[in-house]
Amino acid sequence: MKYIGPHVSAGGGVENAPLNATAVGANAFALFTKNQRQWVAAPLTAKSIALFKENCSKGGFMPEFILPHDSYLINLGNPDEDAIQKSRAAFLDEMQRCEQLGLKLLNFHPGSHLNKISVEECLDRIAANINLALARTTGVTAVIENTAGQGSNVGNRLEEIRYIIDRVEDKSRVGFCIDTCHFYSAGYDIVGDYEGAFGELDRVVGLEYLKGIHLNDTKKPLGSRVDRHDNVGIGLLGIDFFKRFMKDSRFDNMPIILETPDESRWAEEIALLRSFE
Ligand SMILES: [Zn+2]
Ligand SMILES: [Zn+2]
Repeated sequence: MKYIGPHVSAGGGVENAPLNATAVGANAFALFTKNQRQWVAAPLTAKSIALFKENCSKGGFMPEFILPHDSYLINLGNPDEDAIQKSRAAFLDEMQRCEQLGLKLLNFHPGSHLNKISVEECLDRIAANINLALARTTGVTAVIENTAGQGSNVGNRLEEIRYIIDRVEDKSRVGFCIDTCHFYSAGYDIVGDYEGAFGELDRVVGLEYLKGIHLNDTKKPLGSRVDRHDNVGIGLLGIDFFKRFMKDSRFDNMPIILETPDESRWAEEIALLRSFE
């Protein structure tokens, strides 16, 4: 079975996210558990946590199919010693918020080398910082997202995701998430060679580590390394890709998240995808 839903707003409190997901007919969703553009946020209140759990249970959302996303400010591969402290603390706070909400996964972009260190050094730092956060939390899996490779972002090559996973001590609490827009922009041809690209994903990283999908169409061509999402079937992936994806049982039983730009179409997009199952 496929679990699909958008990255919904948690405006007014995290407890509103499951309500927003219910409103568009989702059975999965993503959210930010704090303002994604600020370093520090007030702790979650006991009331907010209880309401979040209650609204998830009313909407039929299981923690396995909720994929929280961390703040865009965090860079676990930051070469600067002062800056990395800030990212480490913020990442731990994100993990702890997930713990408090009873969530199992935390999705994040691996990081950027900022042209100051090598890709390898950056990946080593990311792995070390994941290990630090995992040692201080329980029950939450660190889910690394592949990137389009814009600027100095690492994680556009599957080998880089594998490299990080290899250096994480607790293999039971590390995984990855594939963003289909980023994957295509990074040069993996899921349109022209669907089997080849997903076969490579399995060979290089391993489907056993795949914890979720960001199912986005893309405005930018294969190998462009530019991250511009588009609505389902409108962009360069095209509707046939989504038909094939929805029939592919390798993507059953994990959160499939829409981060498509026009949120007025989410309900329609979910219904369309369901019609392809
Ligand atoms: Zn994404
Ligand atoms: Zn993106």
